[in-house]
Amino acid sequence: MNLEKLKEVLEGMPAFREKQVMGFIFKNFVEDFDEMLSLPKDLREKLKEKCSLKITAEEFISDNKDTVKALISLVDGEKIEAVLMRHEDGRNTVCVSCQVGCPMGCAFCATGKMGLTRNLTLFEILEQVLFFARYLKKEGKEMQVRQSRMVTNVVFMGMGEPMLNYDNVMGTVRMLNDKNYFNIGARHISISTCGLIEGIKKLAEEGLQVNLAISLHSPTDEKRGAIMPVNAKYPLKVLVETLNDYYEKVGRKIMVEYLMLGGVNDTGEDVEQLAKLLSKERFFLNLILYNPTGNFSPSRGPNVKKFKELLEKKGFTVTQRYRFGRGIKAACGQLATEDKEVSPH
Ligand code: SAH
Ligand code: SF4
Repeated sequence: MNLEKLKEVLEGMPAFREKQVMGFIFKNFVEDFDEMLSLPKDLREKLKEKCSLKITAEEFISDNKDTVKALISLVDGEKIEAVLMRHEDGRNTVCVSCQVGCPMGCAFCATGKMGLTRNLTLFEILEQVLFFARYLKKEGKEMQVRQSRMVTNVVFMGMGEPMLNYDNVMGTVRMLNDKNYFNIGARHISISTCGLIEGIKKLAEEGLQVNLAISLHSPTDEKRGAIMPVNAKYPLKVLVETLNDYYEKVGRKIMVEYLMLGGVNDTGEDVEQLAKLLSKERFFLNLILYNPTGNFSPSRGPNVKKFKELLEKKGFTVTQRYRFGRGIKAACGQLATEDKEVSPH
């Protein structure tokens, strides 16, 4: 898909034209300019010449079909990943990437190993949601149901660090939220960050009801610093202070993502330290099962269970990320890095 010249093509035309074209693309999910019959023919021709609606992607479907992963090729040949997770309750969550690679270098992350190639444009982020919106629409048509075949949630938890591509991420959030386009409620959109505090502060000022998720992964500077280089710049004290301010301002609980790494961060002592660091009124924990991509191994099942129980005893709300996408390398960056042959496997 290439819509970078859309504005240029529509320049000088009445404002309703832009809305009309954008509506065809992002509300009705029309895949071909030729089908936009209410547009003047010469405009359709011009759009065809300067833009493209074709999304080039390879699809991978998990064994139990609850997860679909798309490896999307961008116009410059770079590849990014997006994932659709279908929940039993009918929610369809799309996980999007916001950068090609990521400069933050977290030790456990396949995307981190790639380094940063570039930021995605707003349309390149939207393209990922659009891919699955079209996918679900087609499926709904085949099954003659529409309502339950929509993208209901979007999470910025794919490749890249959202706070480093702030404007395009926020532009995407607004488009997703817009009733004229995707119409996805802000409360159904989540932004995950490794802890860049300027971005968190800016987000607090947006007046949006989006969910903030923070990749904590360890309760002490020593441990966190060893696996997340960002901790050297923003140690836990500064990070948690910023998050507390965020809570004061926005009034929505913050999700703490906690990757369960065997022998690294999964003991009773880690629970004690977490309880000292975070207020249970302001934060809830999401325990993530590690998709092995490098030198770490996932915590053992009984350890995860115990960890969860101990946190609950301390009064925390704890959720556990269900492991989606077995058999299709669903962890962020796993497919794209494999392609670049920097996969540690
Ligand atoms: N850069 C942002 C958002 C993308 S990563 C961030 O770090 O928050 C989304 C989540 O996936 C993060 O919590 C990240 O730590 C986690 N993650 C990275 N590698 C993973 C892996 N191999 N298995 C499971 N989760 C992983
Ligand atoms: Fe980047 Fe997030 Fe991966 Fe860290 S976990 S390297 S911030 S994508």
